Amino acid sequence: MLAKGKGHFTRREFLSKSLSSITAAGLLSISGKKPPSHIQRELVQRPEKNIIYRTLGKTNIHLPIVSMGVMNTLDSAVVKKSYEIGVRHFDTAGEYMRGRNEEMLGNALKELNVRDKVIISTKVFISLFQRGMSPEEMKKIYLKKAEESLKRLEMDYVDILYSHNVYDIKWLNNPGIIEALHLLKEQKKARFIGFTTHQNMAECINEAARTGFYDVICTAFNYSMHDDEVLTDSLKNAASKGIGLIGMKTQCGGRFLDLENVPIEKQRYYRRNILHTAVLKWVLKHDLITTAIPGYTNYKQLEEDFSVAYDLDYILEEKKFLQDKNVMLALKAYCKQCSRCVPTCPYGVDIPTLMRIHMYALCYSNLSLAQDTLNEIPNGKGLERCISCSQCEASCANRVDIANRIDELGKITAGKKFDWEFIQIRKQRGVPLNHN
Ligand code: SF4
Ligand code: SF4
Repeated sequence: MLAKGKGHFTRREFLSKSLSSITAAGLLSISGKKPPSHIQRELVQRPEKNIIYRTLGKTNIHLPIVSMGVMNTLDSAVVKKSYEIGVRHFDTAGEYMRGRNEEMLGNALKELNVRDKVIISTKVFISLFQRGMSPEEMKKIYLKKAEESLKRLEMDYVDILYSHNVYDIKWLNNPGIIEALHLLKEQKKARFIGFTTHQNMAECINEAARTGFYDVICTAFNYSMHDDEVLTDSLKNAASKGIGLIGMKTQCGGRFLDLENVPIEKQRYYRRNILHTAVLKWVLKHDLITTAIPGYTNYKQLEEDFSVAYDLDYILEEKKFLQDKNVMLALKAYCKQCSRCVPTCPYGVDIPTLMRIHMYALCYSNLSLAQDTLNEIPNGKGLERCISCSQCEASCANRVDIANRIDELGKITAGKKFDWEFIQIRKQRGVPLNHN
């Protein structure tokens, strides 16, 4: 499980060999249509010894550099195929698909009978409405939620248990959460403990490095942050203290708006795809990051992402993508959840959360997660408060078109509910499946 090294094939050779094996197996129709993901097809199996592994901080866990973010799928065949081709870490959360994501993952691994060969992480999320509770109440509810996750996963323990969605130091050091995590570790229900962060990451990561309480940090980290030295320094700081680092949101949202080519009235349907291998390699070329958890949802995406685990060298097409000024400009408009815009809104709109919901809905096509996150926004801070004045946009260094995105969200939510037909329209128009 510890072998390091590079593959025998370049990515191009790998993909072309895969393609020929699929064609030979008769699984590509003459029209070139891909089979649905649940149809078994053979992916090219390369020697496990060529997979690049890294060690997760002081945990002594060794992992392939590409893992699976399970969040957007209920397709157990994708989980099983992932294991078969070498994925050893699967990441889920109690709130993904309202618990069904954990249930599916638990079932799939049980059927494979490989619990002791994989690293499972899950997350406990405390709703924003509950965050004002006393430490005693907080500990109680946290323990209850952790037990519910274990039950859904049908496991006695998870390898990593995260406190989900940490964005400030106060929450990071909440005594109720700290006590609950400590107890769960003592009871051997969580081998290691950590937190996830996609907002105000550098501050939280530096604080975790200072306290030394957390074993692992799962942080948003992607190419749109290539010039964020404060974040990179915080990662170095945490790594120097032996904290294991896992990269999430590595695919820059999966799709982006290529402003040059998309007529404004069609923007909601015509987003351009990220070149996934390019942005994934960019993340993993930072060897402080042990592994990344891209959220692929079918075999083709799995094959694409896992090819990176054998070879981190860019091919020409990837170099061109990363150097393309239009791509860089478009990716710059990725919301980094820095919260700088918040004080500039006279109506107190929760802009970072709305930007995240926009990404879940329009880039991930994960409407259940978008809906759950929308429900989390307290009254008076949501879509209804925004008057599209654009005042906030001047404060956003990334030039995120905040008012436009809020307007788009308004159009695809009838009041507070997402329009499920919207997904169908996107599918008909050829918008690809989730891959983030
Ligand atoms: S919209 Fe801009 S300023 Fe606001 S949280 Fe996102 S990146 Fe930061
Ligand atoms: S556009 Fe909306 S979110 Fe931005 S400042 Fe105006 S009301 Fe607030």
